[in-house]
Amino acid sequence: MREQRPVTALPGVGAALAAKLAHLGVERLQDLLFVLPARYEDRTCVVALGALQPGQRAAVEGEVQLAEVGYRRRRQLLCRIADGSGFLTLRFFHFPQSQVQTLARGTRLRCFGEVRRGPLGLEMVHPEYRRIGTEGSGESLEQTLTPVYPATEGLPQGRLRGLIVRALRELEEQGVQDWVPQEVLAALGLPSLQRALAYVHHPPREARLDELAAARHPAQRRLAFEELLAHQLSLRLLRRSVQSNTAWALGDPAHLAERLLAALPFALTGAQRRAFGEIDADLRRERPMARLVQGDVGCGKTVVAAAAAARALGSGLQAVLMAPTELLAEQHFRNLSEWFRPLAVPVALLTGSQAGRSRRSQQAALAAGTIGLAVGTHALFQHGVDFPRLALVIVDEQHRFGVQQRLRMQEKGREGGRFPHQLIMTATPIPRTLAMTAHADLDVSVIDELPPGRTPVRTVVLPEQRREEIVARIGEACRAGRQVYWVCPLIEESEELRRQAAEETASTLAGALPGVQIGLVHGRMPAAKKHEAMLAFKEGRLQLLVATTVIEVGVDVPNATLMIIENAEHMGLAQLHQLRGRVGRGALESSCVLLYRPPLSEVARERLTAIRQTSDGFEIARRDLELRGPGELLGTRQTGLAQLRVANLLRDADLLPHVQQAAERMLSAYPDNIAPLTARWIGASGQYGRIG
Ligand code: ADP
Ligand code: MG
Repeated sequence: MREQRPVTALPGVGAALAAKLAHLGVERLQDLLFVLPARYEDRTCVVALGALQPGQRAAVEGEVQLAEVGYRRRRQLLCRIADGSGFLTLRFFHFPQSQVQTLARGTRLRCFGEVRRGPLGLEMVHPEYRRIGTEGSGESLEQTLTPVYPATEGLPQGRLRGLIVRALRELEEQGVQDWVPQEVLAALGLPSLQRALAYVHHPPREARLDELAAARHPAQRRLAFEELLAHQLSLRLLRRSVQSNTAWALGDPAHLAERLLAALPFALTGAQRRAFGEIDADLRRERPMARLVQGDVGCGKTVVAAAAAARALGSGLQAVLMAPTELLAEQHFRNLSEWFRPLAVPVALLTGSQAGRSRRSQQAALAAGTIGLAVGTHALFQHGVDFPRLALVIVDEQHRFGVQQRLRMQEKGREGGRFPHQLIMTATPIPRTLAMTAHADLDVSVIDELPPGRTPVRTVVLPEQRREEIVARIGEACRAGRQVYWVCPLIEESEELRRQAAEETASTLAGALPGVQIGLVHGRMPAAKKHEAMLAFKEGRLQLLVATTVIEVGVDVPNATLMIIENAEHMGLAQLHQLRGRVGRGALESSCVLLYRPPLSEVARERLTAIRQTSDGFEIARRDLELRGPGELLGTRQTGLAQLRVANLLRDADLLPHVQQAAERMLSAYPDNIAPLTARWIGASGQYGRIG
């Protein structure tokens, strides 16, 4: 295919230029077409000098009245042109001597540049210019808007523009292959690829610059649509290839899951039951499950995961639960051990900081199959840990793991001859259409209900100056038998500085609150120490816990009813929401105090208002999406969608449902178009990895 040829196929493109183009992601001819203008300039009409405004970028014409070299601080060439309506100064700092002659009095020039206010009135600094004939001689203006491409070192605009024009012309003769079916485009009123490309590179003079700047023109939307579709298809294919493997059908003849649930001190909520029902149906099939459970902090995802694990154990097979931090792994370990104890099911814990001996004995038990359930960090999947009968992999707080890591875990399971089922749990609720786009390789279950008896957390936002009042409140809460979290500023660059800040805060608070038992947890502590402090807090031996965000995920102490977050203005909405989720876990009324250092930036103010006004994780995710964009929300490592070239998940959100439909249609009716389409946008290597 012509468009697949390397850029060096263009005359005049050698190795050096090809290397520069590679910086823009351009390797093949077609890649050039998808380098889209960052903005446009209107050079289709000449603006009268007398009508120019500072800040405007405009094409002008005039006759040179004067050109001279001046020495105002630096040597410079000043040239004054006039057109009868006014005059304009052109200022050059770098110029060959010959340029002074070119600009002889009486010469007519056409210039393009940005107008600004200068010491001699309006001026242009280093405008593009060329000499033109006498007035009325009909020097041609640009017929279309002029594209301005993203800048790359050593690749001048003019050069890039020329290459793209040539690539467009080359491909025009044959037509660029359009892999998006005509019927799909027609239904959405989107133009063909060829027309879209022609338009975005050279919009007609009557095109609206504001529409183009907002990327709302159908030609631009068409390209965004194609890119989103390519990503969607790539994820769907990944899912297909996973599902073409065989998994264990987990019938659980021992009814271990039912027995586990019956022995719990509480009944599942309706939403938990529904989610488990969906998981259960997947587990009974011989196709690997790939399911994401989304649920706000505190909705009770862990127990649902435990029930799923019980299905594997009750089928004589193994399950693992992987957490992003040691603290969280330990908490899961304690919870699962407690829940499984009545059933006499042992649980193993594997973390990186574990002593060698205990680790080896646990590994041996897992390898021998005498232990069926293991909880741990990524250490679970390090070399030397074997799970001969692994049937289910559960990943908690998925946004910290990438697609690649998940694939690696599945590979691990394959050593047992079958593919493990996969359950992923996340407390980052993202809007539904976005979830279906970002997680197109997964099925999604939602737990949209909190266990009964929780009271909403009251959130207040206060300037730092009112610290003393807060300290008094902590004292009151502790005297009433409640517990308190103090979250230290996270603006410090290093863990070490965070540790220092946390230690200072703890000692200041100890001075102000005699009689209150204060503990400290931070990222630099050995796991055993952290564990000790957390355990003491959990058991009520500590009343105030000063911490860095190591408590961000998962930690559960229902008696904690007050949380103070310092420098809240520097935290993201999702993070604040996660932190706040540590309180309000029991029946008692809880509060969260967000301290900030004035003055607040506009964005920080909006964030703090949002978090104060709502406790609904989905609503918070939506606001977060507006404030920060999807890249942040999804985590850059998690999905290739964070690095879209043309599309923007927020701006083009309304396209997402159509992208889903189009993907379905292509999978069923146009399977041959899929590989070239994904190769065009994602590259042959496949950003999401390939397995199976
Ligand atoms: P998350 O979804 O944030 O991971 P957890 O699984 O940690 O939430 O659950 C939060 C708390 O709620 C835990 O103490 C858990 O034991 C408890 N819990 C879970 N489900 C229920 C339920 N149906 N009724 C009462 N408490 C529950
Ligand atoms: Mg959790």
